[in-house]
Amino acid sequence: MMPLRSYLIIVLIAVLFSFTYSSIDTTTHEQNFLQCLYSYSHNSTSMFKVVYTKTNSSYSSILQFTTQNLRFASKTTPKPLVIITPKQISQIQTTIICSQNHGLQIRIRSGGHDFEGRSYVSEVPFVIIDLTYFRKITVDVEKRTAWVQSGATLGELYYTISRKSRNLGFPAGACPTVGVGGHFSGGGYGNLVRKFGLSADNIIDAHIIDVKGRFLDRQAMGEDLFWAIRGGGGASFGVIISWKIKLVQVPSTVTVFTVPRTLEQNATKLIHKWQYLASKLDENIAINIVFQRINSSKKGETTLLAIFQSLFLGGVDKLIPLVEQKFPELGLVRENCIEMSWIESVLYLFQFPKGALPEVLLNRTLAANSPRNIYKAKSDFVKTPIPENGLEGIWSLFHEDGAKGALMIWFPYGGIMDTISESEIPFPHRKGNLYHIHYQVDWQQEGDEVEKLHINWIRKIYNYMEPFVSKSPRVGYINYRDLDIGVNNIDGYTSYKQASIWGAKYFKNNFKRLANVKTKVDPLNFFRNEQSIPSLVSKGHK
Ligand SMILES: Cc1cc2nc3c(=O)[nH]c(=O)nc-3n(C[C@H](O)[C@H](O)[C@H](O)COP(=O)(O)OP(=O)(O)OC[C@H]3O[C@@H](n4cnc5c(N)ncnc54)[C@H](O)[C@@H]3O)c2cc1C
Repeated sequence: MMPLRSYLIIVLIAVLFSFTYSSIDTTTHEQNFLQCLYSYSHNSTSMFKVVYTKTNSSYSSILQFTTQNLRFASKTTPKPLVIITPKQISQIQTTIICSQNHGLQIRIRSGGHDFEGRSYVSEVPFVIIDLTYFRKITVDVEKRTAWVQSGATLGELYYTISRKSRNLGFPAGACPTVGVGGHFSGGGYGNLVRKFGLSADNIIDAHIIDVKGRFLDRQAMGEDLFWAIRGGGGASFGVIISWKIKLVQVPSTVTVFTVPRTLEQNATKLIHKWQYLASKLDENIAINIVFQRINSSKKGETTLLAIFQSLFLGGVDKLIPLVEQKFPELGLVRENCIEMSWIESVLYLFQFPKGALPEVLLNRTLAANSPRNIYKAKSDFVKTPIPENGLEGIWSLFHEDGAKGALMIWFPYGGIMDTISESEIPFPHRKGNLYHIHYQVDWQQEGDEVEKLHINWIRKIYNYMEPFVSKSPRVGYINYRDLDIGVNNIDGYTSYKQASIWGAKYFKNNFKRLANVKTKVDPLNFFRNEQSIPSLVSKGHK
């Protein structure tokens, strides 16, 4: 047997060798890549100003600026060799070409809200294209359209529309720091979804840079690719620069309400009933439920708080009879309701403090209204109401230690979502879905033990929910990315069959068409990540 000392020396040499080898390898990659960037740029001085390597003093702050999930901000998280914050389209084109030439992967980041950090983390050498400077928004009130660049946030978009008209809005998510690029390309839903559908349902043109570095609009990219980027996840197809959207008509006065109920206040019965009616209500109203664990009035115990939160596109006089007729158990009274403009409702529903000005929507660094957290999320769709005893099982899970910092949002579907075909765009979760569930658990303290506690908890509640949610397959929503449901190989080829494990869950039958589009536009699978659409070319990798 080899003496322990000799063994340790061999191990040490091997480690040193592999370290030296990989650092040389990485440095060479990086230098060749940089040389390529500068030599192919129209203007190498302006390129130089938007390129950040690890030796640049701003590298870390730029990386962290939109790293929204601190689960991917630790010392051990793989970091990009280079970050590029392009200001010109040609800089994106050059980055795409040079990354291919030098074997580097690209991660495209708009707002950085990817739940699994896939816009700024990769296990193989990579560069980030960070679209922070692509944030222009132009609104055409007459035509009720706007062009919005991918790096803009939803808050910036809502604000800009509202400055032009009180009666125009756009259906998208509630969190103002979410980026347009990821949100639109994955679908995008919020409080207007029942009336107007997803963000992606309201896109009428787009500009993309493809794998060959070509700048393409809708006509040039063709209807297949235009279909794919509206809900199929942009990162599989290219860098989407901007989107032309159809604005929607909102009334001058909308009404919001928030009605909190604890379990002791009969929340279970209300939630049970809500499941039967929320997706069938008039499409002008969306009543969501936000679930949180709170301290109970009994010392040392916790209870569950269900917050019924609503946006109604109209005045309080119409809202009250509507809710009274269909959901009298809620006990909604005029005092619960506040009339306001649509832009004010955006602030209200995101829980900005009373009196906050719409300008807060321009704050790109405010993450979920509080300091950034470490978090994990999952999603489900429900097609049949969960019985009361099933609900009670959920509540009991919320008392466990791992549920500290847990949150669930139940979001009703129905309305226009029932009338749009499953294959209209890649997002297939339409008719027959009563509501969407967003599970999330947040924590602040770093460390494997704490992480394990919370991640185990969210997996446990997800397992518990299996009998109550969609089946064959159990579906999810790509914008609530969850790597637990299946991943591609870290590098190299992934078969269609393997990718279908997660792909069918996000896209159902649309997954095949997405793979066909991918094969046509990026056969060698350059734009790839852990959940990117696979190319059907069997050697679809370099
Ligand atoms: C706090 C919070 C609140 C949320 N609220 C909602 C909500 O109300 N409704 C809802 O539907 N979703 C919501 N989401 C989910 C959100 O829509 C997705 O995470 C979305 O993908 C984020 O977009 P982003 O640009 O901020 O993220 P990024 O992390 O920048 O990107 C997400 C994905 O899209 C790709 N991508 C980004 N930009 C481009 C581009 N220009 N071209 C090609 N690919 C691109 C990235 O590479 C990555 O794969 C929320 C997420 C968080 C963290």
